[in-house]
Amino acid sequence: MKLQEFHARELLAAAGLPVPAGRVAATPGEAAEVARELLAGGAGGVVIKAQVLVGGRGKAGGVKLASTVEDAERIAGDILGMSIKGITVRKVLVAPAADIRHEYYLGAVLDRAAQRILVMGSAEGGVEIEQVAKEKPDAIVRVHAHPHLGLLDFQAREVALALGLTGPYLADAMAIARGLVRVLVENDADLVEVNPLAIVHERAADGSEGERLVCLDAKITLDDSALPRHPELEARRDLDEEDPADREAREQEINFIHLDGTIGCLVNGAGLAMTTMDLVKRAGGEPANFLDIGGGAKADTVAAAMRLILADPRVEVILVNIFGGITRGDEVARGLVEARARQSRAVPMVVRIVGTNAEPAQVILREAAFQTADSLEAAAVQAVAASRGAGQTGPAAEGAVR
Ligand code: GDP
Ligand code: MN
Repeated sequence: MKLQEFHARELLAAAGLPVPAGRVAATPGEAAEVARELLAGGAGGVVIKAQVLVGGRGKAGGVKLASTVEDAERIAGDILGMSIKGITVRKVLVAPAADIRHEYYLGAVLDRAAQRILVMGSAEGGVEIEQVAKEKPDAIVRVHAHPHLGLLDFQAREVALALGLTGPYLADAMAIARGLVRVLVENDADLVEVNPLAIVHERAADGSEGERLVCLDAKITLDDSALPRHPELEARRDLDEEDPADREAREQEINFIHLDGTIGCLVNGAGLAMTTMDLVKRAGGEPANFLDIGGGAKADTVAAAMRLILADPRVEVILVNIFGGITRGDEVARGLVEARARQSRAVPMVVRIVGTNAEPAQVILREAAFQTADSLEAAAVQAVAASRGAGQTGPAAEGAVR
C-alpha cells in the first residue's frame, strides 16, 4: 500500500526528520486558508502539490509555487481536478515554498535477496533515480543496513560523504539516513524515499539567514502483509485511488493479481494457482490473472472471485481449478452456478473439481451444463481452445495443443 505524500511526511516528522510544515486541502478555499496562515507566519511563498500516488507530479504540472493567497487559491483550483497519469487530483498539500540550493536523493528499500535494508543516495536528486541508475550508476552510493541494528554510524557517514554532505551538513545527513531506515523498520515499509532531500535557504523572522537540509518529498510503500500490525496506517489507505478490483479482493480476502492475458483463472491455493498459470501457458494461452480464493471458500467467495475476473474485459474464458481439501467441491459448484446466473457477460467456463465432495460437485455441474475436465492439463487445453473460439484466431492457434 502506498501512502500519500502528506501521510508519508507525517511519519518522517514523527521520527524526528526535518520536514517543512504544511497541510492538505481539498478545495481552493481550503488551500487559500492554509496559504494565508503560512504567509502570515513568515513564509515567503507557498508550494501547492498534487496528492496522487504516482511519481513525476512536478513534470506533469502538479507542483506549483504561489506568492499570494489569491495565487494559491487559483493554482489550487487548477491542480485540483486535473488528471496526472490517469488519476484525478482530489487533494493538494500546501507548504511553505522552499528556496532550493541543491537537490539530493536518499532512500531506503527492502532488499529481499540480501536480507538487508538497502540505503541509496545520490547527489543527483530531484530527477528519477531509475534514470540516474541507468545513465550514471556510479553517481549512486549503496549501503546495506542490518534489519536489527539499523544503519550504523560509519555507514551513515559513508552515505553522507558520498553525497558531498560534509561540514555543517554531515550530522544532519547522517541522522536523516538513519531515520529513513528506522521509519522503514518501525512501519514495516518496503520503501521510504526522499527525493529531493534538499539544502534550502531560509530567512528567520528575526532576519537571520541560513541553510539547512529538509525532506521536500516523501514516498512510503508499506508491506500489505504487515498492515494488520498497523491499524493506524491501514486507516490512511486512499480508497479513491485504489483499483476497485483490488478493493473487492481485499475485502473478500481473495489473493488477486491482475495480468495481461485472456484466460481468467479461479483456483484455491497459491501453489495450485501458479501451476494452473504454467499449464495455461504451456497450452499456448496467457493467464488474465493469478487468483487464489483461499482455503474453505464458500459459495459467495466464489461468486466474488467470478466478478473480479469478469470485470476485466479482456477475459475470454474462465478456468476453474479446485482441489478440495478444506474447500468443499459442492460448495464451489453451487457458487459457480449462482455466479453464472448473475454474471455480467457470458464467457465459456471450464471447470475441474477434485477432492472433497467432488462427486456431488459433478452432479451440480452436469445439471447446470458446465463444461468440465478430468485433469488439470485437459482443463488448460480446453480453456485455451475455448478462448480461441471466443476471440480471434491467430498464428498461435495453429500450434495449439489438441
Ligand atoms: P514529484 O515530481 O512527484 O517527485 O514531486 P516533488 O515533490 O519531488 O517535486 C518535484 C520538484 O518540484 C522537486 O524536485 C523540486 O525541484 C520542485 N519543488 C518541490 N517543492 C518545491 C518548493 O517548495 N520550492 C521550489 N522552488 N521547488 C520545489
Ligand atoms: Mn519527488
